[in-house]
Amino acid sequence: MNKKEVFEQVSYMEEQIGQLYQQLGDLKNHLAEVLEENHRLAMENHHLRNRLNDTPERPSDDKEPTDPNGKEEPVGEGYDNLARLYDEGFHICNVHFGSPRQDEDCLFCLLFLNKTK
Ligand SMILES: [Zn+2]
Repeated sequence: MNKKEVFEQVSYMEEQIGQLYQQLGDLKNHLAEVLEENHRLAMENHHLRNRLNDTPERPSDDKEPTDPNGKEEPVGEGYDNLARLYDEGFHICNVHFGSPRQDEDCLFCLLFLNKTK
């Protein structure tokens, strides 16, 4: 290996080291971005978990749809009245409501009774 070849080899290594150095810098920037994103996602995850834990603390919101159910509770009483009305021979279905059944079972009334039960 003569001096020229050694010189060329050293120059080639220097060039490669320069490229490696640049790649190292790029990797370092990329790593910084990944760490930053990781931190951001960890914070977001933390906030979302807090929100999830907060959700059961809002039964008041869930009770609001229950109130209409509470108003429907008299339907049990109303159901008895309607069933009695049906037994007395009147339609309770929305098709013939209030009109006499004339001793025939009405499919609509029976469906309504089963639905309300
Ligand atoms: Zn009917």
